[in-house]
Amino acid sequence: METLAGLTVQEFEELCAADDLERWRARPILQWIHRRGATSFEGMTDLSKETRAALAAKHRIFSTTVRERRASPDGTTKLLIGLEDGDVVETVLIPEADRRTICISTQVGCPVRCRFCASGLNGLRRNLGAAEIAEQVLHVKRELEPHLTSVVVMGIGEPLLNYANLTKALRIMKASWGMGIGYNRITLSTVGVLDKIDRLVEDGVTPNLAISLHAPNDEIRREIVPTMAKVRVIDLIKAGRAYKEATRKNVTFEYVLLDGVNDDRKHALELGKKVRGTKMKVNVIPYNRVEETGFRAPSKERLDRFVEALGGCGVPIMVRKQKGDEVSAACGQLRARWTEPVPTEHA
Ligand code: SAH
Repeated sequence: METLAGLTVQEFEELCAADDLERWRARPILQWIHRRGATSFEGMTDLSKETRAALAAKHRIFSTTVRERRASPDGTTKLLIGLEDGDVVETVLIPEADRRTICISTQVGCPVRCRFCASGLNGLRRNLGAAEIAEQVLHVKRELEPHLTSVVVMGIGEPLLNYANLTKALRIMKASWGMGIGYNRITLSTVGVLDKIDRLVEDGVTPNLAISLHAPNDEIRREIVPTMAKVRVIDLIKAGRAYKEATRKNVTFEYVLLDGVNDDRKHALELGKKVRGTKMKVNVIPYNRVEETGFRAPSKERLDRFVEALGGCGVPIMVRKQKGDEVSAACGQLRARWTEPVPTEHA
């Protein structure tokens, strides 16, 4: 049985032909799924009863289900997505002024294990399939917010270590037969898998890019992202620059601010020297609490001093607002399991 939410139109056309259905049917059926919110073949009311029955006998639309919803007082809502094998991942809807952003996961757990992040605490269990990635967007559009403005691939997992499934899901999101969310409305966050950043350009899958830098030099980065010790800070900055030149998309550097680790004025100046002149922005993310990691968020004074010093170097900066902390849905707090008591009332 195929899951239609994870197919390209070409793949589905092949299936239709093999099933003695006209190939031209593939496109409107996928649009029913990606644009018109169909959750069953029964609901595709412009298809004949026979066609609907034939499709339902052979295929399904989704492979995942929404197991729970948790709403935070700040408007952020987290969905627990149940996978077929019993595992779960998290998806977050973040409303902010007139923007509606969804944050999606790409792996169950994460092999990178940044020392400040909850997602890798238990390592990697497995990659998500293309359908499992795309369906997160469909669930949010159906249940919470039909008018999504942007997608950020910043949930659980390292997207570029699940390259084939990720890029397929991004193509489904962008396509005219799919969700119609252009690459300029999608931002992919990566710890910096350099060869795969190049591949994105070669393959023409070019969302905005956020590179998780987190340190002004290799010594500090090695301490907090030990599994990526071979990747140099300078090469990450170069990769960002090359991607921006090749694609004209936004490229930002993410910098999780950890008290006493990477938040000194001298760190800001060292970073400023390396990033200044590249026209790329630094997105400063004050550390969100993850019990097991032992890090602390910097004080307001240290945050301000860091931002001021970096800004003084002529680097454009954004400080990411904390959202979703009340339901552990803020950056770095997502896990491949539901840690809080299951709520009795749905959001
Ligand atoms: N694996 C990808 C995407 C997932 S995380 C990546 O590394 O970029 C999205 C962002 O949240 C990353 O920049 C990540 O470093 C950051 N993050 C992780 N743990 C955090 C924490 N405890 N507080 C704040 N940000 C965190």
